[in-house]
Amino acid sequence: MVTKQDLFDSVDRAHDELVALLQELVRADTTSTGVMPTGNEQRAAEVLRRKLAADGIPSEALESAPTRASIIARLPGARGTPRLLYMSHLDVVPVDDPAKWRHPPFGAEIHEGRVWGRGAADCKSLVAAECMTLILLKRAGVQLQGELIFCAGADEESGGEYGWAWLAQQHPAKIRADYAINEGGGIGMMTDRGPLYLFTVGEKGRLEVSVTVGGVSGHASVPWLSHSSLYWVAELVERIGTYQPELDTSAEVFRHLGQIGVEGDVTPQNVDAVVERVMARNRRFGTALKAVSRMTVAPTMVQGGVKSNVIPDKAIVVCDVRTLPHQDEAYVRREFQKLVDGIPGAEISVRYTAVPSASPYETPFAELVKRTTDEATGMAAAGWIPVISNGFTDSRLVRPLGIITYNFSGGDPTANPELMGAHNANESFDISSLIIKTKHLLALALETLG
Ligand SMILES: [Zn+2]
Repeated sequence: MVTKQDLFDSVDRAHDELVALLQELVRADTTSTGVMPTGNEQRAAEVLRRKLAADGIPSEALESAPTRASIIARLPGARGTPRLLYMSHLDVVPVDDPAKWRHPPFGAEIHEGRVWGRGAADCKSLVAAECMTLILLKRAGVQLQGELIFCAGADEESGGEYGWAWLAQQHPAKIRADYAINEGGGIGMMTDRGPLYLFTVGEKGRLEVSVTVGGVSGHASVPWLSHSSLYWVAELVERIGTYQPELDTSAEVFRHLGQIGVEGDVTPQNVDAVVERVMARNRRFGTALKAVSRMTVAPTMVQGGVKSNVIPDKAIVVCDVRTLPHQDEAYVRREFQKLVDGIPGAEISVRYTAVPSASPYETPFAELVKRTTDEATGMAAAGWIPVISNGFTDSRLVRPLGIITYNFSGGDPTANPELMGAHNANESFDISSLIIKTKHLLALALETLG
């Protein structure tokens, strides 16, 4: 009979192997620019295929387009159910300026107990931990009752069209599961009572809203005869900068703040004061609370003008908009109507890149995630706070398949999450979190699948 402690010991013994796998994955450059051809996820899929095959675990690399591979491997269960899906992604965001990096972005060098490189944190550390979970279970000879599925998809950073969206559409039977774990949460914050965790159950929606503004075109040498649309761009951007979104405290998180010493009800009237108090103590948590109490609008791109001596009669302001789960397209359009009030020729176009989604928080699976986190970290949690994340992940693509999906994969609660630098220069991941993450996934598979 293999115990959880045996499995934890096997992770400690596999320390160097685990780090080497992460290094190899980081060195496999899978930069995705979002414009085809790009990604080359088959490089990382091949690293995983070889690694799994060395321990006799078959895997399947599925290509949505040439080189855009997602990899799936499974440990079949004696009974077959339930099914647990460990999700992650193989692509990484581009390195914009290698000169800003202290260590080469694809070198995967080890310094200060961390592996440095693009993708180390987002999310090849999770890919490595998930892959090693299958390998260590197999080596220990554990016969699970339910089935464990590992799937690392392509194209997460650009929306998943060539990865999880494609898998969910073309191969739903291969990823069908009862429960799933994905990136995007699980690292606790230390308090005097122990680590406090944000338990990510859902994600805000993400939209691109393009606002076209009008103007009167003319020759740039006599500007008083025309009215540049760029003045309306300036006006609109100014309005967005001072826009006061409706405050909303319907998210479950606001009923769990007693655990961090917030007394009384949190309401739209007092939420900003609460956010400010929390922010002063913990910037990361304060930021998460702020994001889940409102829709956000950020102007990110401007397009306008055709020639430097022509006054343009049209320009476009593109905004990144993040909605709460109950805020629909009609709501977004109403808010933008207010923003463009009085601006000539204003047209609003809305494109969703992610619809908001959430899984229930009160489930037996959530209880297992919590218990195994305490076991893997060796520390009793001070509390658990269910949150809706401001960013989106591939989870939104599998929740509609009926899979209870949490963005929660464990880590070292004493590590500083601000050092991870996901999407920034100097991305890195601490090795102690890599070890704890793997232990957590092992314990969770054992508990869930028996
Ligand atoms: Zn990611």
